[in-house]
Amino acid sequence: MPNFPAKIAIIAAYPLDLPHSNVMNSAMSTARLTINLQALASNWRALDAKTDVETGAVVKADAYGLGAGPVSATLAEEGVRKFFVAVAEEGAAVRKAIGPGPMIGIFSGHMEGDTDLLRDHDLTPLINSPEQFLRHQQALPDRPFGIQLDSGMNRLGLEPADWAELRPKAEPLNPVVVMSHLACSDEPDHPMNRQQLKTFREMTEGVAAPRSLAATAGTLLGAEFHFEFCRPGVGLYGGMPFADAKPVVTVDLPVIQVRPVEVGESVGYGNSWTARRPSRIATVAAGYADGLHRAIGGGIDAFAGGQPCPVVGRISMDLITVDVTDLPEDPERLRILNGHQTVDDLAEAAGTIGYEILTSLGARYSRGYVE
Ligand SMILES: *Cc1c(COP(=O)(O)O)cnc(C)c1O
Repeated sequence: MPNFPAKIAIIAAYPLDLPHSNVMNSAMSTARLTINLQALASNWRALDAKTDVETGAVVKADAYGLGAGPVSATLAEEGVRKFFVAVAEEGAAVRKAIGPGPMIGIFSGHMEGDTDLLRDHDLTPLINSPEQFLRHQQALPDRPFGIQLDSGMNRLGLEPADWAELRPKAEPLNPVVVMSHLACSDEPDHPMNRQQLKTFREMTEGVAAPRSLAATAGTLLGAEFHFEFCRPGVGLYGGMPFADAKPVVTVDLPVIQVRPVEVGESVGYGNSWTARRPSRIATVAAGYADGLHRAIGGGIDAFAGGQPCPVVGRISMDLITVDVTDLPEDPERLRILNGHQTVDDLAEAAGTIGYEILTSLGARYSRGYVE
């Protein structure tokens, strides 16, 4: 069994759409985030099956908000041997969860002040500049490193000229990976994809190190983009562009009170919603401080079992109001993220992307992991 922090509750396995009463066995006063580790593992296997090459896992930003410890431990058990995070501190947390063995790559490379963390937790910096290369060779000459190349996104990595100059020095030291990142891979027909593929091929011609170009969307672009391994992130967590992903996150919101609202009365800040029929309005305990962005406005539901109830009025910091008039009885809790309404549905309503919804899910939730 993966090694979980003791404070995290493990809930017995249950299918994602069971009635709420089977999920929640005690009263709750804070909103609850449930992470289905079986669905996570299944998404990794499904992405792995799309290629003939190795599949790593990107677990940066606390595994896209879902908990780097349990997520990484589950994926390591599934057989993942290459993990990636944004910064060294995140890498240390992942190492704690998975133990020795798998590679943990650091996208920000070897930053000033990182040396102790990199050495103590056996982390692999992905070198972005000649300065980082020099720093790594001076501080940790015997430790592994990877190379990150800029193939056109102009965000991270060595420019072609810098790489040409560094390559004779770096290659004999056997970098464990040479990688780059695609800027437009969520648009399969975007000409940038082929342009970056061409540039990456040119820049890595003849390298002995394993190469990697594809994140989730790149994995779906086809075999040419796979090289020696792929490194998906968002698809593991149930987000687009991996349309076949199983939903991983469920969010349940406790109902604080339910009140009748007369025709013509309004609800919430700015009086933005007015009852046009005698209504019952449930107030639930979560809001934009929990990552349910104020920009969501209308157009989403909260679910009582399978029945959708429209969110009405503005989302406040800690509270959301829901029209439960059509339910046969007042609910004790409502579910806002499930297999029917996904992180990408919330993202669309908020004018953003699923990645931002996932990584915004706040610290106030009580969390449970389903194995
Ligand atoms: C975030 C990131 C990934 C994973 O991207 P997804 O779109 O979430 O699959 C892969 N590589 C790099 C360099 C990244 O920054």
